[in-house]
Amino acid sequence: MKTLAPITLASGSAIRAKILKSRGIDFEVVKPGVDETVIKTEAAAAGIGLEETAMKLAEAKCLAVAKSRKGFVIASDQILEFEDRPYDKPASIAEAKARIAEMQGRTHSLINATALAHDGEIVWRNLSRPRLTMKAMTPADIDAYFDAVGEEVLSSVGAYMVETRAGAALFERISGDWYAVQGLAADPLLAEQKRRGAFGDEWKNPPRILAGVVGSPIAHSLSPLIHNEWAKRACIDGEYRAIEAPPGYDAFSKTMDDLRAQGFAGVNVTIPHKENALHYATTASPVAKKIGAANMLTFSEDGAHAHSSDGVGFLSSLADIAIPGDPVRVFVLGAGGAARAVASSCRDLTAGETPRRPVEIFIANRTAGKAEDIAENIGATIIPWTERSACISTMSIVVNTTSLGMTGEPPLDLDLSDLSPDAIVSDIVYAPLETPLLKAARARGNVALNGLEMLLWQAVPGFEAWFGNRPYPVVARVDDDLRDLLIAELKKRSAP
Ligand code: NAP
Repeated sequence: MKTLAPITLASGSAIRAKILKSRGIDFEVVKPGVDETVIKTEAAAAGIGLEETAMKLAEAKCLAVAKSRKGFVIASDQILEFEDRPYDKPASIAEAKARIAEMQGRTHSLINATALAHDGEIVWRNLSRPRLTMKAMTPADIDAYFDAVGEEVLSSVGAYMVETRAGAALFERISGDWYAVQGLAADPLLAEQKRRGAFGDEWKNPPRILAGVVGSPIAHSLSPLIHNEWAKRACIDGEYRAIEAPPGYDAFSKTMDDLRAQGFAGVNVTIPHKENALHYATTASPVAKKIGAANMLTFSEDGAHAHSSDGVGFLSSLADIAIPGDPVRVFVLGAGGAARAVASSCRDLTAGETPRRPVEIFIANRTAGKAEDIAENIGATIIPWTERSACISTMSIVVNTTSLGMTGEPPLDLDLSDLSPDAIVSDIVYAPLETPLLKAARARGNVALNGLEMLLWQAVPGFEAWFGNRPYPVVARVDDDLRDLLIAELKKRSAP
């Protein structure tokens, strides 16, 4: 029988201990004695984002306890973010009531960081960010809630405990890791525990995780740089490779069979195989079925699951930007694979709003038949390709999904003279970063977005599925280091 390394939970939280126990982990509890206020104040003064601050706190607790404990130490931290501001635990029922009154009917996030140390060193990190939408409540509803729960809720940042009936009843919608909502992301931790041989003798040699991106040509792909950087940061022993599969279904399916035999966890799929990926899959997500293509395949013993993350990548790239118009009118130029995902995702552009503004989608493409297919599928209006400049005056967002403007391609010919000054221009092309379309939009004072944010965000679901971890820190707006790496790589490639 193998000897298991001892496990310590560096936390005085009853709920964290309860979660670990309920998931079958044996552990001892040691309170870390870390001054959280100092870390938070220093992080705020240094302009460090909330996700990184939560991770700093989790690591500090972990390392404080790991000084005196052999084996594994687990620590977690949670920060509530509402309207871009962090919230600490409420000090009184009056403060808690005021907080719920502010958050009722709206959405907030719980940033949850978990760190694992072994013999004094951080060996694994996890970051998750569940989103919670509260029901609309009157002051009387809020009073009734606090009468039912009492002072116990003051031990939680949101003044609620979703694991209780009264706490769960506050919410219209909770999305994300259920245990992370309660304070400790137990499922990724358990997956890691399993991978490390139940924290036992095999922990030093967990099986290597393999993933990749399959396409043709593929050498230019930036995806290996993104995933390998995230794996390195999370201390995951894994590799994400660029894999060439010649055009045609037979070559694609043979490549997939080979990768599965080698133990790959999954792959991203790009041109020309996104439809082949759906064909190869044994199951598919509703979004992949809807758009008839997939950019992700996750392998299991039973087969392969197809999903498309391009649409969610596009939506995330717009997440921090105020979108004008009521209704919101989106003009998609192009009707290729990316257009299908982008246009279909636009239906969810106003999903978090109350009341929700309607979204109208317009599509123009050189080959009219392809635009008609998408329009029929998602309920969009067709604009003839030759009329594309004439219709932009009423648009909230104009998005180029054609390959025009890419390095080596002619620019997209679109006259922006009639575009409203508050409209957003997005170009999903990322090489070059500033296409002629974006240059023209910026010169007129419009918000101009390049394809890099979408590229980063579409990679997140694959990383989570195959490496079992949310990228740390979460990509895009807060991940300046990774963005800088990608920009440097693109500059290197475009240098004469
Ligand atoms: P695709 O399926 O090959 O579609 C290409 C689109 O461009 C079609 O609508 C095509 O029109 C149009 N097009 C090409 N040449 C044209 C021309 N000379 N005049 C007018 N229209 C032209 O490619 P895709 O997968 O959709 O990718 C399109 C672009 O998006 C690429 O630049 C790709 O790098 C980028 N992309 C970016 C991300 C990201 O994460 N940022 C993700 C996916 C794709 P026809 O139908 O008439 O041929």
